[in-house]
Amino acid sequence: MQTGKINVQTENIFPIIKKFLYSEHEIFLRELISNAVDATQKLKTLASLGKYKGKLGDLTIQVKVNKKKKTLSVTDRGIGMTADELNKYINQIAFSSAEEFVSQFKTKSEAEMNAIIGHFGLGFYSSFMVSDKVEINTKTYRSGDGTEAVMWECDGSPEYRMDTSKKKERGTEVVLHMADDSLEYLEDHRVLEILKKYCRFLPVPIQFGTEKVYEPEGKDEGKEVEKPRIINDTNPLWKQKPSELKEEDYKKFYRELYPYSFDEPLFHIHLNVDFPFNLTGILYFPKVKRTLEIQKDKIQLYCNQVFVTDSVEGIVPDFLTLLHGVLDSPDIPLNVSRSFLQSDPNVKKISNHIMKKVADKLEELFKEERKNFEKKWDDIKVFIEYGIISEANFYDRAKQFCLFKNTDGKYFTFEECRKHIEPAQKDKEGTLIYLYATNLEEQYSYIQAVKERGYDVLLLDGVLDSHFINTLEQKFEKSHFTRVDADTIEKLIKKEDAQPSKLNEDQQKSLKELMEKQIDSKKYTITFESLSEKEAPFMLTQPEFMRRMKDMSALGGGMGYMGELPDHFNLVVNSNNSIIGKLLLEPDGGKQAATIKQLFDLALLAQGMLKGKELAEFIRRSTGLVK
Ligand code: ADP
Repeated sequence: MQTGKINVQTENIFPIIKKFLYSEHEIFLRELISNAVDATQKLKTLASLGKYKGKLGDLTIQVKVNKKKKTLSVTDRGIGMTADELNKYINQIAFSSAEEFVSQFKTKSEAEMNAIIGHFGLGFYSSFMVSDKVEINTKTYRSGDGTEAVMWECDGSPEYRMDTSKKKERGTEVVLHMADDSLEYLEDHRVLEILKKYCRFLPVPIQFGTEKVYEPEGKDEGKEVEKPRIINDTNPLWKQKPSELKEEDYKKFYRELYPYSFDEPLFHIHLNVDFPFNLTGILYFPKVKRTLEIQKDKIQLYCNQVFVTDSVEGIVPDFLTLLHGVLDSPDIPLNVSRSFLQSDPNVKKISNHIMKKVADKLEELFKEERKNFEKKWDDIKVFIEYGIISEANFYDRAKQFCLFKNTDGKYFTFEECRKHIEPAQKDKEGTLIYLYATNLEEQYSYIQAVKERGYDVLLLDGVLDSHFINTLEQKFEKSHFTRVDADTIEKLIKKEDAQPSKLNEDQQKSLKELMEKQIDSKKYTITFESLSEKEAPFMLTQPEFMRRMKDMSALGGGMGYMGELPDHFNLVVNSNNSIIGKLLLEPDGGKQAATIKQLFDLALLAQGMLKGKELAEFIRRSTGLVK
């Protein structure tokens, strides 16, 4: 029998551990089981190297709860520990890593601590977060002197007790005597929940209680039998060889990961790297919906098959967090705060690798099955645009396969689109003007007018499109994006100088005065333009720059300084339209007012802006005209 003081400077670190790991107490079970798995894997390795010649036997790890004794135990049949090893690993090393945690806590702000809590491998000592007393009972796989079984116990003070033990089986049993504030961990459903969360894919079978199943499986006449309940899948799909897997296996695994998701994934990427870092995993492309935020945090991060977190923010570029699936890497440091992660060289390499693989996959799909790629385009468009906006490296790859869709549903790569609209859509300065619409219905009349001119119109109706075209304007040479209703058709793509106006300045002035009696000049700026006679007499346009800023501020991106921007339109009077000429000759002020009102309503109608009472009155008035 031996008693001693654990090698630790801080008088009592447990109150601190307890306090600051408050919300993450449940990880104690993950830590204990990880140790049990490690010990088992080590034994298997020794056996495979011929260094352990005994029988391996059943290696299942047992998790047991005894409500009467208020204990929870984790038992493995791994390598076990000798008294010397226990002394070294548990009394000295393990404690010092717990102590290091506490010293970090002293130098870091609470916010930083919160960021790293739960990911810090407190290991074995995290059991003191939930228990009054912890016992270890262990027997090494070795034989010879100094290999008898040992027991150890500690009540959370730096004093421990060690003694020989009668344990016969090889391996380690850790018994926690639960503290009164942690009795939840004696409840089956709670333990099962934690095991399912963290241990679902661990490589050694873990048994917790039993379950009733019908045998033979799947038959109606089956007999109910009680079997050990194994809570994990020891060979998860991402650890298997891609060449041996079928499409259906990936889909099945997706359903296993997201039982509540109705959509099938569009495609997947199987990651498998050994060098210079270790990374395995499967990423799925989901159908990306318009609401970006709620779709994040679906990727699960594992470390050697132990679940760590479902927030991979800071580990992969933001746009990749829209993907689903699992990443498994022992090379991602989890004991630093998220803001440090991005500067970690391994994390950078891993993140670049994932981005490259994603681009490879998309490029392959585009090249090999373009039709299929186009079919899926609407569901992945937001994802690719997000990548282009936020990652310069991704743009360099994606510019080969990113698509534009026009209002007729035809798809073009950037290059194809440029060739398609050149030179027709170059203005007199040589700038290439990409015309686009954001709503086929509302902008119908503008789209038609532009198409009649022989121009092509892109459909850019995605959530990110205003940001997206901003980015493209910086990347494309001498190019500009303009919405079809941003200006009158002649000015959308300025070709030559304007035609002479049929109205002189006095006439324009008096018409403007007449118009201002009826039209709110704060919302509508009245301008005169000499367009061709065919063009409508009045037209509403919404200048591109202001409208785009407004769209972007509505999305909450970038332009923080602009609050809610008011809608503003130009009311363009086509001085060359014959109705305008006649209007001024009209002697009667009443008739003039009525004509202006009618023309203005028609302009509103073309923008889909005539609604409610105004629309009803317009219909009544117009019906009067045809009577
Ligand atoms: P870590 O697992 O991060 O090394 P721990 O504090 O959890 O830190 O454990 C310290 C050491 O104690 C382990 O590295 C291992 O050598 C030993 N150990 C812990 N649990 C077991 C176990 N179940 N079987 C054998 N050795 C163990």
